[in-house]
Amino acid sequence: KTFADFKFNKQILSAIEEAGYTNPTPIQQKAIPPILAGQDVMGIAQTGTGKTAAFVLPILMKLKYAQGKDARALILSPTRELALQIEENIRLFATYTDLRTVVLYGGLGPKTQLSELEKGVDILVATPGRFLDLYLAGHLVTKSLNVLVMDEADKMMDMGFIGKLHRILEVVPRKRQNLLFSATMSELVHKIAGDFLAFPTVVEV
Ligand code: AMP
Repeated sequence: KTFADFKFNKQILSAIEEAGYTNPTPIQQKAIPPILAGQDVMGIAQTGTGKTAAFVLPILMKLKYAQGKDARALILSPTRELALQIEENIRLFATYTDLRTVVLYGGLGPKTQLSELEKGVDILVATPGRFLDLYLAGHLVTKSLNVLVMDEADKMMDMGFIGKLHRILEVVPRKRQNLLFSATMSELVHKIAGDFLAFPTVVEV
């Protein structure tokens, strides 16, 4: 399969080509079709396998163009470093779209992040703590979220984020598509996957 077989739009295909990607990696081959079909997906894949593009590309395809003020996709990352990497991937592939991405993480004042949110956002990339802080302070509207991603779920569990993740699940719309990626399948990952995903398609590389 090539990227063109996935029926991505021209904007996305051009960006993929310019990124120098010729063929989808195995996790992309397996995860992209069920994600595009709207299913919940659990992907077991290490960093370096191309897992980021495996969820970023179908999300860009689903959102298509900027719409409204409030985020429609939320990608949760255990660390600021990973959040920034995901954001970089999104920017790369969203070059020819007008989709707006904001990245939220702690360790600095929220002023810049808040002014970015003010301008409108389609995709939020966030660490769980900062997401909740801004939500609880009334700066985030979750009603338009219809795709939720947990990246590196095993690391999230190792870092003790399970409580925060459950809290986040309480404040997002019930009707949504869920994607979970993890390098390993520990007991805690299994637990959060059970609370988070509905009849998931499991893909593994
Ligand atoms: P990831 O596992 O998402 O951290 O990706 C690892 C690296 O592989 C990143 O530098 C990506 O840019 C690159 N990559 C992802 N998918 C492809 C692909 N289909 N072809 C070539 N490189 C890729």
